[in-house]
Amino acid sequence: MKPSIEKLKKFFKLEEERGYDDKAVMGGLEGILDSWIADARADGIGEDLIKVVSSRLRDYQRLSKVSREEILNGLWKRISQEFDLDSLQKLPKHASEPRKQRTKKQETQISKPEIVKSIPSSSSLLIVETKDDHLAALDAPVSVLQGIGPKYAKGLSKIGVLTLSDLLYHFPRRYDDYSKLKTINRLRYGEQVTLIGTVQSSQTRKLQGGKLKLVEAIISDGSGAIRATWFNQPWIQQYLRSGSQVVLAGKIDQYLGRLTLNNPELEQLDQENLHTNRIVPVYPLTSSIRQKKLRSIINQVVSYWAPRIKDYLPENIKTGENLMDLQSALLQIHFPDSMDSLEAARTRLAFDEIFMLQLGVLEQKWAWQNQIARIYQAEDYWINERLNNLPFSLTKAQKSALGDILKDLSSGHPMNRLLQGDVGSGKTIVAALAIAVVTSQKGQAALMAPTSILAEQHYKTITRTLSQSDAVLMPSQIRLLVGATPAAEKEEIINNLANGSIKVIIGTHALIEEPIHFQNLQLAVIDEQHRFGVEQRAALREKGKNPHILVMTATPIPRSLSLTIYGDLDISIIDEMPPGRQEIVTRLLSPIQHEIAYRLIQREVGKGRQVYMVYPLIDESSLSEFKAAVKEHKRLQDEIFPNYRIGLLHGRLKPSEKEVIMARFRDGDYDILVTTSVIEVGVDVPNATVMIIEGANRFGLAQLHQFRGRVGRGEDKSYCILIPQNEDAIENKRLKAIVETNDGFVLAEKDLEQRGPGEFLGTRQSGYTNLRLASITDTKLIQKARHQALKLFESDPKFQSPEHQLLRKAMRKFWGENHDYGEIS
Ligand code: ADP
Ligand code: MG
Repeated sequence: MKPSIEKLKKFFKLEEERGYDDKAVMGGLEGILDSWIADARADGIGEDLIKVVSSRLRDYQRLSKVSREEILNGLWKRISQEFDLDSLQKLPKHASEPRKQRTKKQETQISKPEIVKSIPSSSSLLIVETKDDHLAALDAPVSVLQGIGPKYAKGLSKIGVLTLSDLLYHFPRRYDDYSKLKTINRLRYGEQVTLIGTVQSSQTRKLQGGKLKLVEAIISDGSGAIRATWFNQPWIQQYLRSGSQVVLAGKIDQYLGRLTLNNPELEQLDQENLHTNRIVPVYPLTSSIRQKKLRSIINQVVSYWAPRIKDYLPENIKTGENLMDLQSALLQIHFPDSMDSLEAARTRLAFDEIFMLQLGVLEQKWAWQNQIARIYQAEDYWINERLNNLPFSLTKAQKSALGDILKDLSSGHPMNRLLQGDVGSGKTIVAALAIAVVTSQKGQAALMAPTSILAEQHYKTITRTLSQSDAVLMPSQIRLLVGATPAAEKEEIINNLANGSIKVIIGTHALIEEPIHFQNLQLAVIDEQHRFGVEQRAALREKGKNPHILVMTATPIPRSLSLTIYGDLDISIIDEMPPGRQEIVTRLLSPIQHEIAYRLIQREVGKGRQVYMVYPLIDESSLSEFKAAVKEHKRLQDEIFPNYRIGLLHGRLKPSEKEVIMARFRDGDYDILVTTSVIEVGVDVPNATVMIIEGANRFGLAQLHQFRGRVGRGEDKSYCILIPQNEDAIENKRLKAIVETNDGFVLAEKDLEQRGPGEFLGTRQSGYTNLRLASITDTKLIQKARHQALKLFESDPKFQSPEHQLLRKAMRKFWGENHDYGEIS
């Protein structure tokens, strides 16, 4: 019998035995519906039947006992007909249901009582479980718990708690250690404390003509007294009746020489805490949920469920990494016996989070690695000949990246590689050589870039490299396809791609938007990968059959992050600039030193060089950014540099208009380009030697570094001038960092330190939002988890062995059902 049907049978039978009092399940039959529907779908039960069951049970609570009996019998009749089962009356009574003989193996699977009837009186849970599927049982809505009505459930849903499992994983925000409380006379300025005291007095005062309300209280504990204040939370006074005992938590401040607490957290003292739990959890709340009740509900769920949960982590991993078991970890994270066991619980649960992430990305990687791809073997002499025909020799880092790629191409499995390198590090030439290998052996290659101007730039580089300096291909075998390509030419390109006479196509989104078919696409290169969506990258890949994929990015990712974020890709890093590059001189000027910047501009333009001037986002609206740039453009042209040709680029232009302006700047039609932040992507204008960034304090590190990378692309000495909006910002940490180093990786690490990982995650997979305890920057933890995940994949890549079944389920749950872990990016 399907588990979901089995479940219904048990409920129905139990209801019958109890005389249809709707108490077979706490909260009533209605309460199980949501989770039952999910189970039924998982069992493949037809939607018709699901609909009938749910519509009948929806109103069960409001029916008379006679009607309830009718409904359940009717429903069961329908079910038994559909599945050829006995009628309800013929079923044995639940209590006397003979236990089937079970083999030892089954016994271990059915390790929990099927219906739990005797639960400690403190806990009023009655949850019916089937088999070992506690994961499904934990998906029951919180309303199955006694004491949680619809209103409270709604409050919980606001903090993201919908199911029992959510409650188990609703971790405390902090802990109050009642064994280590401080008395008021021992408090020190600046420390974070929890203290217990009695309210001496309290009052509400109006400030600023009644606009603000200030609640004040004097709290004493026998050793002394302290003043606590709350701004604009007038309702708080009702909890401050004199004589009542309260718990306050917050940071000790100072006011007129005396210690105070400003806006501390306030809680009624629960005497029990003083005696029972010495370390008390404090949970994240909303206004409709009070600490004490939530704590007691979680206590119920944890004390009932934590011991019954099965640990999905294989024994050898737990021993290997010295991890606490899941049962204890879930207990200890909520109600720790000691700070040590709390730490152990945290470590275990944080490990799980990262481990699940790694399993997800590795599964993706494994799936790729097991596809078959065409083998492209390049002989050494052939490669050397290509290298000899280049106008320069490759840097060590370029050679090593090329080595990685050649190995991938000859492996028989699709390459799935990320080529990471700072702006100007020379990624394109490496991609060009990969293209040479594939296209000289009957394959076709595509290179997709985010803008036409970039596509055009790549087209020139690749034509120059492969059919001018070298003669691997004829010029006609390399083509450019962008939105503006004339219709007749498009058609010709489409034909010649289909018949195989074009070997390399370089283009923009047009490559996936136009009805293009390749004769034999074997290599897809995607430049500036973060500028494309998941679907777009997949669309290009799907134009071939398991083609080799190379994605490129100029955004340096801190090493500590790349293992996690790009765990499904192989990574090559170009961490070295071609020789002869001049270090870009970066200077920070105060807002009153504009003159210095103008003199530099004059000098460089006088030498025939070109200048970028970037204007910041004034506020969030692109309108003001646009206005600032327009205004500055006019001012510069009219007042400062009337003799120079000054272009203007901003986000309100159509993409095609932007490209025209960029192209004119590249071709030397402008001396100065005034621009908003739209000028970010890797356009190569070697003649540009000055980058002025106005309002520099408004930009992030990564963005500043990208801007700076627009200059210094030729042989001439280049300058980057940062001008913050106000004097104070001279002290800005980010600006100092950018002045100190030109190394994108160092800056990325700093960016991570200062702003957290959010910036780097971008469009990557959803699993990252599931991290509650682990930090995505905890390199040690990530390495441990990755090591264990790799070992597991070596031994059981498809999670087939019985001891990995629970793990597999837990992992699906972590990543969300039907999630394919995203696309490679
Ligand atoms: P990015 O990595 O930002 O895409 P590009 O591929 O555009 O960098 O390269 C920047 C410039 O450096 C190009 O003009 C390219 O020809 C040149 N270049 C690349 N590799 C070398 C090298 N090993 N030696 C000298 N110049 C190089
Ligand atoms: Mg590039």
